[in-house]
Amino acid sequence: MQIQKNEIFDITIEDMTNEGEGIGKIEGFPLFVKDTVIGDRVQIKAVKVKKNYAYGRLIKIIKPSADRVKPRCIVARQCGGCTLQHLSYEKQLLYKYGKVANCLKRIGGIQNAAAIMEPIIGMFSEEEAKTLDNHLIYPNVCENGPWNYRNKAQFPVGIDKDGNVITGFYAGRSHVIIDQPYCHLQSEVCADILNRIKDFMREYNVSPYDEGKHKGVVRHILIREGTSSGQIMVCLIINADSMPYEDELVECLEGVNGIKSICINVNQEKTNRILGERAYTLWGSDTIEDSIGDVRYHISAKSFYQVNPVQTRVLYEKALEYAGLTGSETVWDVYCGIGTISLFLARRAKHVYGVEVVPEAVKDAKDNAGLNGISNATFYVGKAEKVLPREYEEHQVKADVIVVDPPRKGCDGKALETMVRMEPERIVYVSCDPATLARDVRWLCENGYEVKRVCPVDMFAHSGHVETVVLLSQRKPDDVIEVEIELGEMD
Ligand code: SAH
Repeated sequence: MQIQKNEIFDITIEDMTNEGEGIGKIEGFPLFVKDTVIGDRVQIKAVKVKKNYAYGRLIKIIKPSADRVKPRCIVARQCGGCTLQHLSYEKQLLYKYGKVANCLKRIGGIQNAAAIMEPIIGMFSEEEAKTLDNHLIYPNVCENGPWNYRNKAQFPVGIDKDGNVITGFYAGRSHVIIDQPYCHLQSEVCADILNRIKDFMREYNVSPYDEGKHKGVVRHILIREGTSSGQIMVCLIINADSMPYEDELVECLEGVNGIKSICINVNQEKTNRILGERAYTLWGSDTIEDSIGDVRYHISAKSFYQVNPVQTRVLYEKALEYAGLTGSETVWDVYCGIGTISLFLARRAKHVYGVEVVPEAVKDAKDNAGLNGISNATFYVGKAEKVLPREYEEHQVKADVIVVDPPRKGCDGKALETMVRMEPERIVYVSCDPATLARDVRWLCENGYEVKRVCPVDMFAHSGHVETVVLLSQRKPDDVIEVEIELGEMD
């Protein structure tokens, strides 16, 4: 069937893409429709027609799915952040669980995925946890449930057609700014900070950045909060050598409850990247402090730090459980960031080695080891695919356990290959992308390892993303012999 652009159809949503778009069919021809959920009967307009599929725009919901809920946020539909807010939280979790299971099966070739998967760990208020009745979901009980959980926000700054400074969020798949200082995923303090900075910019005529013309000063406002410490960092990303009216900026932010650091990051490039190379502190400390469990961390503006501290604790505890440490193990934490996992594991290991490509993060990792009195951790700056082979070839390093937590694109082939040569008994793979996780797991399974346990953790409620921890164990030739003997005895 060939459909035409701008044609209007009534369809039923039967499935969902990895990005959270609903999928419906017209005589077998698939249409992807944003803002719809499985079970919705909707009227849509075909807006982009390709050979084998099309994108539709939702015109109206004829009959809502039983799983549909009213989003809390008034800009949920325009904003590119929460792609699943109109789906009940329980169904969001089941969708993510299914996504991990499917990837492991289809891409990873793991046929018994359902048998080795633990329930997905979600965020529930005490009340909601009581009524939850689904064996595929494990509730982590926390104060706000799946809301106001983020500790980091990056707000783009721009100008509207009347010349007013605006700040908020990008609309989906675009750089159009929706002027909305309040976000239900962020800490409540963000709106106050944004309003103060907007007032400051108006008063001193500090221009917002105009992306099209590559002109203007303030590009983004980065806010970080140490959830357990209450310490706040505000960093302005600017398209200028230095910040105009910096004393006045400090004055306008000094009154924010918990403010610990005000800093500037310079980015004068024409780029989609938010942060530039050079950063300096205007007021207060270069870092803020936070803790996960009983480990304390210093975090600077540029370092990677997990955005959901409540679930990070659960994630790291799962990684620790899978690592199975007794105190005598040598552990490698590859893609270690500011050493968060490394330090979490160090107290239970003989020695932990961390590898990370961002030098500032490694500096933080070393400082963090000192801050916690941890002396059995060593950190290397460099790419995993360079540092691991070098350490293996020059110093014949080995590992009992390797933990990896790579960015979305997964592990580099050379890094994986060296990991296998280091012959760890266990590999704990922490991943924010089930597809690349499944690809790497498949390779590890073809090269001597087997998947023992899988646990999805919901770090990003209301978005389509899911984090997963996987335990892989070395397949030993002895395993086979044991089985043979057992069979022999049975005869
Ligand atoms: N384990 C940390 C960080 C995980 S995010 C935590 O839980 O906080 C992934 C990290 O990998 C980032 O800090 C990023 O800077 C780093 N990274 C990206 N590519 C890398 C590479 N090729 N080699 C080493 N580190 C890399």
